Amino acid sequence: MSLFKNILFLILGFFLIIFSFYDIVYDLGLIVISIVAYFLLIFFYIYLNLRESKTKTVPVDIDIVEEFEKTLKGGLYHFKCQTCDGFFAIKKSKGDNKQYVKMTCPDCGSIGVIPPNPSTIEDFIPEKKSIKANFKCEICNERLTIWAEGTELYKKLHIFSCPYCGKIETMKKV
Ligand SMILES: [Zn+2]
Ligand SMILES: [Zn+2]
Repeated sequence: MSLFKNILFLILGFFLIIFSFYDIVYDLGLIVISIVAYFLLIFFYIYLNLRESKTKTVPVDIDIVEEFEKTLKGGLYHFKCQTCDGFFAIKKSKGDNKQYVKMTCPDCGSIGVIPPNPSTIEDFIPEKKSIKANFKCEICNERLTIWAEGTELYKKLHIFSCPYCGKIETMKKV
């Protein structure tokens, strides 16, 4: 909620209080209108807040999929899933992201998050690569290429938030 909208609601609420005060003092009989106006004000306030929170929040409440990050070259990262111990790779079009990324594991499909600065471990990456899946952010145009290492790619792979801009439900399969 922007400061401007909050002030607007504050002013509207203030006028409404003045109005109902006059109504009571001078007995205008408009109490029903005042109550309806209060409810409308509260309803719109909640509605606007809900609509904005849809495009803002970054989900971080789920168990972490990622266990290691190993930079090979040019924005290619490898991760290990804590649920299935499988490896997968993410290739990004943009530079360092500072956002949490919520996604399904490309190996087993369990949901987890990758933190902005994941811890690193050394491990062996399997030779066999799966087919690749491409995603693009509708807001900032960040592009991701994802594949599973040593296994098939999980069919219903889903990226819940953009690694670059952090907006949710903007990563679409291309
Ligand atoms: Zn997994
Ligand atoms: Zn984005």
